[in-house]
Amino acid sequence: MKKHNFSAGPSVLNREVIENTAKAVLDINGSGLSLMEISHRGKDFQAIMDEAVALFKELLGIPEGYQVLFLGGGASLQFCMVPYNILNKKAAYLETGVWAKKALKEAKLFGEVNVVASSADKNFNYIPKGFTIPTDVDYFHITTNNTIYGTEIHEDYNSPVPLVADMSSDIFSRPVDVSKYALIYGGAQKNLGPAGVTFVVVREDILGKVERTIPTMMNYKTHIDEGSMFNTPPCLPIYTCLETLRWLKRLGGVKKMYEMNKAKAAILYNEIDRNSLFVGTAEKDSRSLMNICFVMKDEYKELEEEFQKYASSKGMVGLKGHRSVGGFRASTYNALPAESVQALVDCMKEFENMHKK
Ligand SMILES: *Cc1c(COP(=O)(O)O)cnc(C)c1O
Repeated sequence: MKKHNFSAGPSVLNREVIENTAKAVLDINGSGLSLMEISHRGKDFQAIMDEAVALFKELLGIPEGYQVLFLGGGASLQFCMVPYNILNKKAAYLETGVWAKKALKEAKLFGEVNVVASSADKNFNYIPKGFTIPTDVDYFHITTNNTIYGTEIHEDYNSPVPLVADMSSDIFSRPVDVSKYALIYGGAQKNLGPAGVTFVVVREDILGKVERTIPTMMNYKTHIDEGSMFNTPPCLPIYTCLETLRWLKRLGGVKKMYEMNKAKAAILYNEIDRNSLFVGTAEKDSRSLMNICFVMKDEYKELEEEFQKYASSKGMVGLKGHRSVGGFRASTYNALPAESVQALVDCMKEFENMHKK
C-alpha cells in the first residue's frame, strides 16, 4: 500500500532525492566507489560540498558577509554553540515551546537570559505578540517553527540586536529575508535531508566578540576557516541535502515551495475547521504551515485511538501528536506530496461519516 508519511522528523524526503542518494551510495560519479568510502578531501566530495553551499546560498537568497556551514551535533548542539560564540553578558529569548526552552537553558550556562515573552500559559499554542526586543542584549533568539505545537512565526522580525533563529523545521519552506538575521541554524532532518547534519548560516561580523576561550570544535571560526572540513563532515547526509537543494531548484525555488506549502496547509486546516469531529490546537493566526496539530472534540475524545487505527489502515504514518499536545500532528514538510494531504482529508471525512452523532 502507498504510505503517506506525516512524521515530524526524521521525515519524508522526495523520492527522487532518495533514489539519487541510493545511486551515489553504490557508485559516485562512475568512480567505482561508494560515496561512503571516498575521502572527504578528494575532488568528488569537495565538489559536493561546494555545490551544496552554493545552492543553499542561492535558494535562500543569502547576501554577502554570511557563511554556510554543515556541522554535526544536531540543532541541540547549536543551543550551546550559539551562546558559547556570541553571548558575552546577556541574551534575550522568545519562549515558544520545548525547543526554545532547551535553547535558553543552555544560554543560561553562559550568561544572563531575558525571556522576552512566553506562550507557556496556554501550552504554547500561540506566538506571543506586542513584546519589545531589548537593546541591552548580545542577541535575540527565536524558534521560527514550533514543531511540537504547530505554531510558526510568519514574519522576519526587525531586531535592534543580532537576531538568531532555530529554523530546524521550516527552513526553505518560505522566503526569508536573511539580511534580518545574524545567525540561522537547524537540524537537516525535517526539511532538508536525513539526520546527522546541521546547517548554520552565520554573519561573520558577529563573531570574535566574546571574552571567553572557545574550544576548537565549538568555535564557528574553526569551521569557517576549514570550509566545514576541520574534521570529517557527515558526507552522506550532506550529499542528500544537496540532492534536496537540486530538487528544490528544479521545482522553482523557495517562492514556489511556499505557494505549494500554503495550498497544502489550507486543504488540511479547512477540513479541520469544517469537520465536526476535530478541532485544531494552535490559535489561528499562529498556525504552522509545517506541523498541523489537531485533536478530537471533547464529545468524540474516546474515538482518538480508533481514528489513529483507521488512518494507519489507509497508509497514514507518523500522525500521532507529541505527548505534550496529544491527538494528531500532520507534518506537511516540503517533500510531502499534496496527494498525501488529500488522502488524510478523505480519511477524516470518511471517519466523520462513520461516527457523526
Ligand atoms: C527537531 C528540532 C530540534 C532538535 O534537533 P536535533 O537535530 O535533534 O538536535 C530543535 N529545534 C527544533 C525547532 C526542532 O524541530
